[in-house]
Amino acid sequence: MYKKIISIIMLLILVCTGCGKKQAEPMANDLNTIIKRDKIIVGVKTDAYPFGFKDEKGHFSGYDATLARLIARGILGSDKKIEFIPVTASDRMMKLYSGDVDMLIATMSITQKRREILDFSNSYYTAGQAILVNKGSKIRSLQDLNKKRAIIVFGSTSEGSLRTAIPSLEIIGYKTYPEAYKALKRHKADAIVADDTILMGMALKDESVELLPKKYTKEPYAAAFRKGTESKDLIKAVNKIIEIETRNGNLRKIQESYGIR
Ligand code: GLU
Repeated sequence: MYKKIISIIMLLILVCTGCGKKQAEPMANDLNTIIKRDKIIVGVKTDAYPFGFKDEKGHFSGYDATLARLIARGILGSDKKIEFIPVTASDRMMKLYSGDVDMLIATMSITQKRREILDFSNSYYTAGQAILVNKGSKIRSLQDLNKKRAIIVFGSTSEGSLRTAIPSLEIIGYKTYPEAYKALKRHKADAIVADDTILMGMALKDESVELLPKKYTKEPYAAAFRKGTESKDLIKAVNKIIEIETRNGNLRKIQESYGIR
């Protein structure tokens, strides 16, 4: 009986000395979380043909979505182990930081300013800002937009660069690229300024608009991650996959299939 009481007291002491002591938290690691979950959650565009859009059957498609599937296959062994979350230029960072997505593959350019709050993979494509006008327009260059109106999409790099490049320009913003395109067609402004790749997607489907050939910036697209140590292993894994898929020619083939090479 006495022995029993002693062992109960010992047990209580052991339990209580553990009380109040903080367990060492395991370091957050996004790659491990994905592996444990056995699914990767990726934010992609649905408004940016041919990089991120939904096909006739409602499937997430485009170069970005295809690359995301290759990443799922590389990390989890199957391109089916993926969930896509639609994002726009203006809500993508919020969806990343709220934890809705593990990463963004969303026509997102690496910029110095974004590097302050995001981590990026290596670049998987380079676009450039260009101008889309209605056919017959007198606008032939960025300078011609002086004292005119231009359309941008909120949260895109062209929103920032245009405001500084041509301060006299009146800028109208939209949330998505299809809305921007409709506004141009209704002559609400003289041009859209955005990535050539996205504008090309519009021009390919519509002969009444014209994509001007000059590119004004370099837009290196990359996968974006929450900034910090939790992302390090995931970025390494993604970079490895981008490297393999570049070397084996897969990325080139995918680009060709979407007419972006
Ligand atoms: N690449 C540009 C950016 O990251 C424009 C495309 C977009 O709106 O996502 O802002």
